[in-house]
Amino acid sequence: MFDLQGKVAIVTGGNGGIGLGMARGLAGAGARIVVAARSAEKSTAAVRDLRALGSDAVALTVDVCSEESVDALIAEAVRLCGRLDILVNNAGTNVRKPAHELELDEWRHVIDTNLTSAFLCSRGAYRHLKRAGGGKIINIGSMLSIFGASFAPAYGASKGGIVQLTRSLAAAWAGDNIQVNAVLPGWIETDLSRQARKEVQGLGDRVIARTPAGRWGRPEDLAGVAVFLASAASDFITGTAMPVDGGYSSLL
Ligand code: NDP
Repeated sequence: MFDLQGKVAIVTGGNGGIGLGMARGLAGAGARIVVAARSAEKSTAAVRDLRALGSDAVALTVDVCSEESVDALIAEAVRLCGRLDILVNNAGTNVRKPAHELELDEWRHVIDTNLTSAFLCSRGAYRHLKRAGGGKIINIGSMLSIFGASFAPAYGASKGGIVQLTRSLAAAWAGDNIQVNAVLPGWIETDLSRQARKEVQGLGDRVIARTPAGRWGRPEDLAGVAVFLASAASDFITGTAMPVDGGYSSLL
């Protein structure tokens, strides 16, 4: 039920943090991984890591903000691997400022990286998933898909948008046997959140105090949900937004 042998998965931002945590899970279940990000150096290291798990992984350079670059990524992935079954829209960024200090360019950069990218990649993947007889799209949201934060107007808007995009795609493509779901990670130790801890005073301790599990998450905490949502085990699940957060969003 959880077997991904013979499946090909593109993971945007798969060269570190949550993306690599998910890619490791998918690789362990047998999928061939296409690591898609900007830094060739980080992607090469990630591919080495995934190959050690037995995946015939490859790295392709992409800027998910660019339509041309995304279309080239999808075409090259299918040319190299022969098919596409799974897309993980994980690439993301943040600019932490209240709205009255945020430049329009900064707003657009965050929205393009976190939200428009998921539209572009999903649109590009659609016909290949359909041709494979069905497929899986996993979009990465956030606790800020649910909650507001003074320092994250663009990030929050992008992650709220991810949930609604997920529902639209799920509704449109259910008849093609393509399931589209969102994962909402809690606070996970990565480069992105390390920067947040530096910029938002007291964040590290506040998260631990507010999280029933009593700790920050780790990228490997996302491996299981990735395998579940990428495999036949979740064939009747679509349009959902699943928190993976140690209880942060649902328990007092
Ligand atoms: P990282 O900074 O470790 O990872 C971000 C990834 O996105 C990197 O692999 C980066 O690779 C890639 N990326 C960024 N911009 C682009 C771009 N323009 N084109 C292609 N790739 C890009 O952060 P996380 O692992 O924490 O974040 C991954 C996702 O998880 C994001 O969507 C984030 O919003 C979300 N998330 C994170 C949480 C956390 O607590 N850490 C909580 C909730 C959600 P490169 O620089 O090589 O391009």
